[in-house]
Amino acid sequence: MLTMTKIYLSSPHMSGLEQGYVNDAFETNWIAPLGPHVDGFENAIETYLDQNNHVAVLSSGTASIHMALQLLGVGRGDDVLCQSFTFSASANPILYQGANPIFIDSEVDTWNMSPELLEVAIKDRLENHKKPKAIIAVHLYGMPYKANEINAIAKTYGIPIIEDSAEALGSAYFGQKCGTLSDIGVLSFNGNKIITTSGGGALITKTRELKNKAVFLSTQARDSAPHYEHSSVGYNYRMSNVLAAIGRGQLDVLDDRVNARRQNYNFYKSTLSKFNSIQFLEEPKGFCSNRWLTCIVLDSFETREEIRVALLAEDIESRPLWKPMHLQPVFKEAVSYTNGVSERLFNHGLCLPSGSNLSQHDLERVVKVISNTIAS
Ligand SMILES: *Cc1c(COP(=O)(O)O)cnc(C)c1O
Repeated sequence: MLTMTKIYLSSPHMSGLEQGYVNDAFETNWIAPLGPHVDGFENAIETYLDQNNHVAVLSSGTASIHMALQLLGVGRGDDVLCQSFTFSASANPILYQGANPIFIDSEVDTWNMSPELLEVAIKDRLENHKKPKAIIAVHLYGMPYKANEINAIAKTYGIPIIEDSAEALGSAYFGQKCGTLSDIGVLSFNGNKIITTSGGGALITKTRELKNKAVFLSTQARDSAPHYEHSSVGYNYRMSNVLAAIGRGQLDVLDDRVNARRQNYNFYKSTLSKFNSIQFLEEPKGFCSNRWLTCIVLDSFETREEIRVALLAEDIESRPLWKPMHLQPVFKEAVSYTNGVSERLFNHGLCLPSGSNLSQHDLERVVKVISNTIAS
C-alpha cells in the first residue's frame, strides 16, 4: 500500500552536485562570506544570463532589493512606485530606507504591474506631489511583466526600474532573460524558489562599478586602510562561500528545473481546463514563464476555498495567490492606484503544488482532489 506523504507547494530539489562543491569549501576552509565559490557562482550566473551583466551574490533577495534602492539613492521621504500584487519582500526594503511605497495594481494578461496605471500614477505624482525615485516591477510566479511598455514609460519620465526577478530565474521575455530587462535586477535563492542556496539572493547590474559598490556596501563598507576605516554605512549582506557552493550545484540543473515546472503546468492545464470554473494564466506571445508556481483562478471565493480545504484534508499544500500590498495592514498608510485586478486574483486564485521534484503520482493526487471537489 502506498503511504500518503505530504505534498508541498514548492520544496528544495537538490541535484546531487552540490555536495561536491560544499565538500570543497570545507576542505579548503573557505567558510566565510567570500571565497572561490562566491566568485564561481557569480561567474556562472553571468554566463547563464548571457548579456552584459554583472552579478553580486548576497544573503537574500530582500537584501538585494534593499541594496538596489541604496544604489539608486533612494532615501528618507522619497516615493517609490511598487507593484502591489507581490510578496511583501518586494516592498519592505522601501520602508527600511524611510521611503514611501506607492502601490500600482496589475493588468490581466500577466497579472503584473499595469503600464496604464503606472503612467496614471506618475502623471499624478508629478502634478500634485513630486517625482518618484524608482519603480519596482515584479515577474510574479515567473511570468514576465510587460517590459517594453514599462521600460518606455520609465524612460519617458526618467525613473529607474528595479526588476524583482526573485520568482523568475529561467524566465525570458522575447528571448531575453528575466533579471536583465531593467536597470537593476534581483534574484532570490530562498528554499522555495526554483533553485536554492537555502537562503540567498543576487543583484544584477549593468556596470562593474555598480556591482563593486554593492559588494563594498554589503561587506561593511570598509575604506582602504590598514585599520577599520568607514565613511559610509555598511551592511553584512554578502553570501557565504558555503551557500554559494550549493548554488553552483543548483545552477548546473536550472534548465531541468524550468522544464519540470513547465511540465507541471502543462499537466494541470491538460487535466483541469475542461472545467469552466478553472482558469489558467497563459503566456502572451514572446513571453516565457519558468512556471515557478502553477496558479489557477476559480469562478468564486467559495469554490477556491472548497478546493483549498479539500487539498488540505488530503495533506496537500496549496495557497491563495499573494494578498496585494495595498490591502496589507503593514502598508495601510501607503497611497495606491488600483483597478480591482489583484484583489480579484487574491480572492479567487490558488497556487498548486509546483515543485520540480513532484512525481506523476503526486500530480495525479492533486488533480483527483480538485476534479472530485468541482464535480461534487
Ligand atoms: C522570495 C521573494 C523575494 C525575497 O527573496 P528572499 O531571498 O526570500 O529574501 C522578493 N520578491 C519576491 C517576489 C519573492 O518571491
